[in-house]
Amino acid sequence: MTGARKEKLLRVSATVGIVGVATLLQWLCWGLIQPALFLFYFPAVVLASIYGDGIVAGWLSVFLAQWLFAPTVELVGLSGQSLRALVFLFSAYMIHALRRSRSRALERLLAGQLQLRHSEARTQRVLENSIDAVVAMDQSGRVIRWNSQAVAVFGYSADEAMGKRLSELIVPEEHRKAHEAGLQRYRETHASRILNQRIEIEGMRKGGDRFPVELAITPIAREAEGVSETEFYAFVRDISERKRNEARLQSAIRGRDDFISIASHELKTPLTSLKLQFQMAERQVASGDARVFLEEAVRKRIDSVNRQIGRMIRLIEDMLDVSRVSTGKLHIERKRFDLSALVREAADRFVEQFKAVGSPLEARIEDGIESFADEYRMDQVLSNLLTNAVKYGEGSPVTLGLESRPEGIRLFVEDRGPGIPPEDQTRVFERFERAVGDGHVSGLGLGLYIAKEIVEAFGGKLTLRSEVGRGSTFTVELPRAE
Ligand code: ADP
Repeated sequence: MTGARKEKLLRVSATVGIVGVATLLQWLCWGLIQPALFLFYFPAVVLASIYGDGIVAGWLSVFLAQWLFAPTVELVGLSGQSLRALVFLFSAYMIHALRRSRSRALERLLAGQLQLRHSEARTQRVLENSIDAVVAMDQSGRVIRWNSQAVAVFGYSADEAMGKRLSELIVPEEHRKAHEAGLQRYRETHASRILNQRIEIEGMRKGGDRFPVELAITPIAREAEGVSETEFYAFVRDISERKRNEARLQSAIRGRDDFISIASHELKTPLTSLKLQFQMAERQVASGDARVFLEEAVRKRIDSVNRQIGRMIRLIEDMLDVSRVSTGKLHIERKRFDLSALVREAADRFVEQFKAVGSPLEARIEDGIESFADEYRMDQVLSNLLTNAVKYGEGSPVTLGLESRPEGIRLFVEDRGPGIPPEDQTRVFERFERAVGDGHVSGLGLGLYIAKEIVEAFGGKLTLRSEVGRGSTFTVELPRAE
């Protein structure tokens, strides 16, 4: 049996039962209550309109009353009896109609409440699962909603936050006055400069830590117990990471721009020198000056051209190495070789350059030290450190050392130049970074970065110990060859 049919049957049975009971009472008390023909049938109709059907109960009562208690009176025609029956039936219809309209109103109310509860639950779910922190406050500025993201972002649990003044929880102290004034202005004039748009401001976590947030505030009008109230919903996003990335990007762009201008300048210098050499030679040839063809003059010129070309090649090689490092394509071929010989050979090669800048080079090289690395790349690292010592040594003695220790091989270049301030000591190993105040010394800011990458590829470490005004020591630590 379907639910509707079952319910109908129940209502009919209830109606019949109620009228039956009324009839029984009427019959038992008839001696006392007559001529009140419908005395017990009135409450029966009321009950039946609740639990069964009031109209069916009304008609059933009329027929039963007529049949059992007033069989001699005609129902049809305007006798007193039939008038009473008509009044009774009218009342039954009225009771039934009243009852139905009440129950419909009740049903509507219940349905409305249910819908409200559903929509509240839906809103709750949506806000709870929002990837943004959702915090809401009432017109007086007290927190009325605090989702789990808000807990994660601001550090207060929902219990701690609910009912507190929002400004005291998440607005930094110096902005609180403006926040409260804005709220007050909205209450009075409904005017606001920040509602319904994305804004970036500073937020505050539990414990006072400040961080940048992006937020959008939406006012929602609400009718509660006849009073209209505005609630303010704020969707808040922690943008610390984004800000950090933006700053990194800005600094990378600045670094790239600086690099382009330095690189152009560095490449132009040898080219200008080459151009001048050739222009001079051209002028000498044009004037018929035979000295230009003398072997010594030609050799001098070739040496100078070679130096300038070598400088350009080194610059270009450095740039290529940087791009190789960042794409993981830096070619390294490791094999066992005599590191002592390599360091000694580099010292010999640089002796003249150190002499030229008035910095005596002291070499303390232990013999017979072997390394398992790339010989060419190792020479590149050492050349870079020695070139820097030439550039920044300021005419003071420079020490080049190689020693074998129980924990590994140690190679160092120590100068007594200007030194590097502590705040720049990490930065100088980064790409395109040059320490401040060295504008007079040429360089791309790539050498130490490449050297560090190479040494680390051998499983070693490149470190710096430096003191401003006292000099710098760059140390390469390598594992032993075995
Ligand atoms: P470059 O020398 O081409 O600028 P490097 O990567 O070799 O690039 O060095 C980065 C920066 O570190 C230099 O610009 C300089 O400011 C600083 N630096 C390197 N070596 C020394 C040193 N021996 N003494 C002082 N500062 C140095």
